[in-house]
Amino acid sequence: MWRHKKIFDSITPFTLLDFEGCPACIVWLSGCNLRCPYCYNPELVFGEGKFSFDEVEKFLQSRVGLLEGVVLCGGEPTIHKELKEVVQRIKELGFRIKLDTNGTYPKRLEELLPFLDFVALDLKNPIEKIEISLELLLKWDKEYEVRTTYHSDLMSFKELKSLGEYLNSKGYKKKYAIQNFVENQTYIDPNLKSSIPLQKEQQEFLTQKIDFEIEIR
Ligand code: SF4
Repeated sequence: MWRHKKIFDSITPFTLLDFEGCPACIVWLSGCNLRCPYCYNPELVFGEGKFSFDEVEKFLQSRVGLLEGVVLCGGEPTIHKELKEVVQRIKELGFRIKLDTNGTYPKRLEELLPFLDFVALDLKNPIEKIEISLELLLKWDKEYEVRTTYHSDLMSFKELKSLGEYLNSKGYKKKYAIQNFVENQTYIDPNLKSSIPLQKEQQEFLTQKIDFEIEIR
């Protein structure tokens, strides 16, 4: 049964940073279908789940009235077909839900949208893999954002600029977050070198002919 399957890795009990305007916890799910070299969660990407929804539910029940939201991230939460039942149950408990996703399971995302309040979608090449998910969000009436992690060795500035232009061509109007690669302890690619952060002139150039806000993080 879905609630007994061990797909969860850990819980961060409280955050004010990950779900804007919403005191929340973060529920981390194991596993991912991608292997981004800059990923700083290899233990989640390659890890086996450690506990089931029964344990997540116990924690959430203890936070009813204390927290407003739950952030679901990983790894890639949508690789788990059980996620629909999970979000339904979290919604029944009265929480707002944010999903962080790489967008490569659009059918699952579509099933989840009625229960979600915010979606953060990764945008990276090849764009074709997330095109349907982006189209779903463009028609969605709730809040979402698209974001890209930038590492100067893994993506040229021209490529980055073309991602912004792609969003523009789709009529995107929300905030586009570009996250400069942050040095951490471990990455999927152990040989990854430091990234050269975007320079001020590059940041200004990115916003040319773009009709939405770009936030460099
Ligand atoms: S960055 Fe996201 S999509 Fe890429 S491997 Fe890590 S968890 Fe998966």
